[in-house]
Amino acid sequence: MIEPSSALHTFIQALPKTETHLHIEGALPWRLLQELDGIKYAATPPSWEGHFKFRDFAHFDETLLGHALQWYVSPERYHAAAVEVFKELQAQNVRYVETSFASGVIEFLGVDGKGILDGILAAAPAGLEVRVFLGIHHGGMNERMLPVIEEALTWDGLAGIDLHGTETLPVDEAAPRIWREARAAGKFTKAHAGEFCGADFVRYVIEELGAQRIEHGVRAIEDPAVVALIRERGLTLDVCPISNVKLMPGVTRENHPIRDLFDAGVRCTVSTDDPLVFGNTLADEYELLHEHRDFTRAELVRLARNGFEAALLCEEHRQALLDDFDRAAAAALNVHPADA
Ligand SMILES: [Zn+2]
Repeated sequence: MIEPSSALHTFIQALPKTETHLHIEGALPWRLLQELDGIKYAATPPSWEGHFKFRDFAHFDETLLGHALQWYVSPERYHAAAVEVFKELQAQNVRYVETSFASGVIEFLGVDGKGILDGILAAAPAGLEVRVFLGIHHGGMNERMLPVIEEALTWDGLAGIDLHGTETLPVDEAAPRIWREARAAGKFTKAHAGEFCGADFVRYVIEELGAQRIEHGVRAIEDPAVVALIRERGLTLDVCPISNVKLMPGVTRENHPIRDLFDAGVRCTVSTDDPLVFGNTLADEYELLHEHRDFTRAELVRLARNGFEAALLCEEHRQALLDDFDRAAAAALNVHPADA
């Protein structure tokens, strides 16, 4: 049953939430582009429309870079954008965020990576836990970038690294060593996989890179052995349904694999990926799951809670956030228990 969206919206708003798959470049608030050029950016791009589908990843990348790189030219710009991004997330009752910045900005534009990290961290408001990751594309572990990455692994404020970029390109052979070194340096390791490549690539990032969290990972559903591997290792998938619907061939609101992964006992979280490109909010993601993939309110609560369970927090802090979450979720379910 589809409920009046305002009641659903109120329910989702009342849930404390996490956002664990968010590219800071892809999160640039549209109004900051309008501040740069009110005429050029008067209208939001066609990719914000509900039924828009990208031709392929290159089409998406062009749209993302074509907009984001107008803004992200200095650590100060990262800071200024992060202030706005975090404010908007807090307004949606988000309590914990993991965001990444792209190593390509260091590699191709020469922006100071440590400055970017510090700028993002300095934007974190009270009441919002922020973790920052360096996103490295498949070819970004070349001779010139290796020393930069090695140095980044010594930055105290860096929470970890993530594998980014065009999934179908070969991964530099240094990747397994870098991912190992990152963990040895106390960093958390993620990887994008299972969006454009199939379950085999999800297996690769788990077994060869030792990734501790998978970004997307949805094509794991194509191989029950990979689904079992994810479950056995207790890994979490940071899933972004609207991004997948607009980007992945054959994926629609009605058949998005998160339902099947969830039912198979895989821990999934819900995030927005690149709201600059998709025009989505976190609430839109939860609404889609309720309206098109039959997630009940209790199941939406489960998804939101998963974010706090997977969060990079000391156990005492996690418990405090989970206690808050459980109180808020119980109250919200109590108002509309119908399909709980
Ligand atoms: Zn992503």
